Amino acid sequence: MSQDSYHPPAKKFKPGSPHSNPNWRGAMQPGPRKQPVPIDQQRRGLPIYQARAQLIGQLRQLESAVIIGETGSGKTTQIPQYLYEASIGRQGIIGVTQPRRVAAISLAARVSEERKTELGKLVGYSVRFEDVTSEETKIKFLTDGMLLREAIGDPLMRRYSVVILDEAHERTVHTDVLFGVVKTAQRKRKELGKLPLKVIIMSATMDVDLFSQYFNGAPVLYLEGRQHPIQVFYTKQPQSDYLQAALVTVFQIHQEAPSSHDILVFLTGQEEIEAMTKTCRDIAKHLPDGCPQMTVMPLYASLPHSQQLRVFQNAPKDHRKVIISTNIAETSITITGIKYVVDTGMVKAKKYNPESGLEILAVQRISKAQAWQRTGRAGREDSGICYRLYTEDEFEKLEKMTVPEIQRCNLASVVLQLLVLRVPNILTFDFVSKPSQDSLQSAIEQLDLLGAVEKKEDQLILTPLGKKMAAFPLEPKFSKTILISSKFHCTEEILTIVALLSVDSVLHNPPAKRDEVQAARRKFISSEGDHMTLLNIYRAFKNLGKNKEWCRENFINSRNMMMVLEVRAQLRDICIKMSMPIESSRTDTRNIRQCLAHGMFMNAAELQPDGTYTTVETHQLVSIHPSSFLFHCKPACVIYNELLHTSKCYMRDLCVVDADWLFEAAPEYFRRKLKRTKN
Ligand code: ADP
Ligand code: MG
Repeated sequence: MSQDSYHPPAKKFKPGSPHSNPNWRGAMQPGPRKQPVPIDQQRRGLPIYQARAQLIGQLRQLESAVIIGETGSGKTTQIPQYLYEASIGRQGIIGVTQPRRVAAISLAARVSEERKTELGKLVGYSVRFEDVTSEETKIKFLTDGMLLREAIGDPLMRRYSVVILDEAHERTVHTDVLFGVVKTAQRKRKELGKLPLKVIIMSATMDVDLFSQYFNGAPVLYLEGRQHPIQVFYTKQPQSDYLQAALVTVFQIHQEAPSSHDILVFLTGQEEIEAMTKTCRDIAKHLPDGCPQMTVMPLYASLPHSQQLRVFQNAPKDHRKVIISTNIAETSITITGIKYVVDTGMVKAKKYNPESGLEILAVQRISKAQAWQRTGRAGREDSGICYRLYTEDEFEKLEKMTVPEIQRCNLASVVLQLLVLRVPNILTFDFVSKPSQDSLQSAIEQLDLLGAVEKKEDQLILTPLGKKMAAFPLEPKFSKTILISSKFHCTEEILTIVALLSVDSVLHNPPAKRDEVQAARRKFISSEGDHMTLLNIYRAFKNLGKNKEWCRENFINSRNMMMVLEVRAQLRDICIKMSMPIESSRTDTRNIRQCLAHGMFMNAAELQPDGTYTTVETHQLVSIHPSSFLFHCKPACVIYNELLHTSKCYMRDLCVVDADWLFEAAPEYFRRKLKRTKN
């Protein structure tokens, strides 16, 4: 594999005007769609198949290895099977981690299909709140977060013979922590003379020296890819509206290219993608004769699974498939048939400022590495074309690599997990890339405020409350809220609310039916905010016998609602194991809001005399997100679930609280915050 094949001479184009690329125009004959190929033949046709024997030979010998291969070469689906077929690691489970839940599920489904077994038998998956494995499972796909949780119960990872840390280039915070956990497990197993643990790191990008060094100079194995040449075009001028530019570019391609050439568009998030999908569908209805039909498919992590799977299917004959996706299609999901990539150059990702403690989700520029990954999606089966909706100068100014998430997120959960794993000193933990001391300190401070940790003889230890908090697969602020709910006699309701906030939204908002949706929602809306409104919806759903028809009429996503039931039941089990009394506050919502205020006091915002809001923690100017049921209201004091930065900094999912409750929850903290404001 050579990265050079990625860097064809780039040309410039202007969205909206037909560009003048002779090669492209020359390729405009209608192309027939390929017939489906039997699955065994598909396996043999993957680039990795050529290297099978050699790979097996090398992996049998090696304790740790780093494998690099272009996305789509077959690393994730084939390597676990090759190991299994060659009886490597048969004494235990071959675990393969994925940063994304949807990838873990769809990969497990694909590999069990390739092995012609039922999902959950030989091949299974485990993601938060959902475990589809059995005694027989030997190849297990799991999110990096799940493996980390398993390590809490068993730091030596005894059930595993092989751990594959996949998509390592994504550098999610969980994968980064797993590096350290797996390395320790491997060393300790060796020292104790136990079954060795084989560690394989897989990456789609070349910059793996760091991983190799970290694993004591583990050899790097390169897979020969099948990258076809890709032409890259930049815009002549910077684009002020990347959505408009993307739309124009899609239809420009659509009018000129044969219908078998599919298009993949990279946008940043669900709302944007749904809106663009609708616009494309509307425009496609009114195109002149002779233009092919268009099948537009959205793709994002919280899309219902069945709809996600649609992107793998061919579009009907004479239809062009246009997939509008988040960065999920960058590496974790491989879609065949893509000839064109439209790259807006934007991504929604976390940003964190340890000084202010502020973590926000923001739309920001991608890195060069991401830009090349996106480009690469166009050249899997044949030569392709990538339109970058930014200028070459703008490209040159992008960061070279994506900053690891561990260096740009709130580390409270991570520190809590490391403490449960009995890491002796968090500040000196062997991280692949160290987070800043400031953000570690700030995480420790937050855990201290939540009452999860204390200092004993200069050692940071978990309090009994902290230990209990770590038992929940939740962010510390949510586990804390559940744990204090018995004091407020509203555990039933808090479990429901936390479950509702832990799954993808139960609200289904088809843009075409806005008025109907509003009419149907009205009866549930609580002036006390989104948490209470969601609680009303859940109660109605439950009282009416969990009825699918009811969900449809009320624009509720029934699949996600079923997931809420499932998650709630699991959280409730954890409470029961801890002998927590589980009471309901029934019609009294004051207790519930008081409890939320006590658990989430660090996420509070206050109305200012000029009608704006600022957060209590950092005095950041924030607004109520338009999706909130409180959008047109001005409550004096709220807690919010998260901050999202698009054109402004928005608070999402709000609950009206009393300022006094916040003071009661953490008097010291608020005294300090107030002092700071006065100074
Ligand atoms: P890599 O890990 O190297 O990116 P994968 O093993 O994920 O590659 O994918 C190899 C090929 O398997 C893909 O190009 C695609 O053709 C096929 N594939 C993977 N997942 C699915 C799926 N869920 N449905 C259909 N085909 C799939
Ligand atoms: Mg992969």
